[in-house]
Amino acid sequence: MNGAVRCLLLQDFLPCGSMESKKKIIVAIDGHSSCGKSTLAKALAKALHYAYGDSGAMYRAVTLYFLDQAVDYNVPEAVEAALEQIEIHFERVEGQNHTFLNGEDVERSIREMRVSELVSPVSAIPAVRKAMVRQQQAMGKRRGIVMDGRDIGTVVFPDAELKIFLTADVDVRTSRRHLELAAKGIDAEWDDIMQNIQERDFIASNRADSPLRTADDSVTIDNTLLSEEEQLQQALSLAQQRMAMVV
Ligand code: C5P
Repeated sequence: MNGAVRCLLLQDFLPCGSMESKKKIIVAIDGHSSCGKSTLAKALAKALHYAYGDSGAMYRAVTLYFLDQAVDYNVPEAVEAALEQIEIHFERVEGQNHTFLNGEDVERSIREMRVSELVSPVSAIPAVRKAMVRQQQAMGKRRGIVMDGRDIGTVVFPDAELKIFLTADVDVRTSRRHLELAAKGIDAEWDDIMQNIQERDFIASNRADSPLRTADDSVTIDNTLLSEEEQLQQALSLAQQRMAMVV
């Protein structure tokens, strides 16, 4: 597989020639764990007729592969060899964005706690980040994409026209995650979820390679007290301002 994790893009399935095609921008949404980045990114992509890129799903898919294949992530050669075997792509399934790992729909399994518990050390490995960032940048080649993650505005698309840093109170984030997992039929304790959220944020903020931080030119949105619709309207208005500035 040429040593590269290969990704197909939702964008490839989108109609061309929409009104926005002349002024397509890149929207980078970074922020803390479980604060609704993907909810906002999906809604914004839909409203703008843009592609959506879930970078966290890619790190989760790699982690799932390492778990299932018992890859020792402390051994660089094992990591490199495993990355050669991994193909990730996104497809729409019943109107939803699903992550596929080597042809298998893993959308549900990548959200399990066993993956959440290991994804931070795996995503701190420079070789893993390098492979993911390369694919994420390829996804944004034609612009017209909303991508969410931790390093999208700082590393993946430093030239993104709009960078949003999303955050929310940790209790609210835990409750949202709890509900989201329950809706997917995944059982998890409230305390374990909160601890996992805090640990993942700590590791992401303190790792040497691409730590989570606010880009200098990002706009921070604290959505603790905002509804999904309210945060979408704020982001949409920012996107429209930035699109108007693109010639
Ligand atoms: O977005 P989500 O919470 O699903 O991401 C899972 C994990 O993937 C994060 O906790 C973080 O460790 C890692 N991640 C990352 N860089 C990104 C996106 C996610 O390191 N751009």
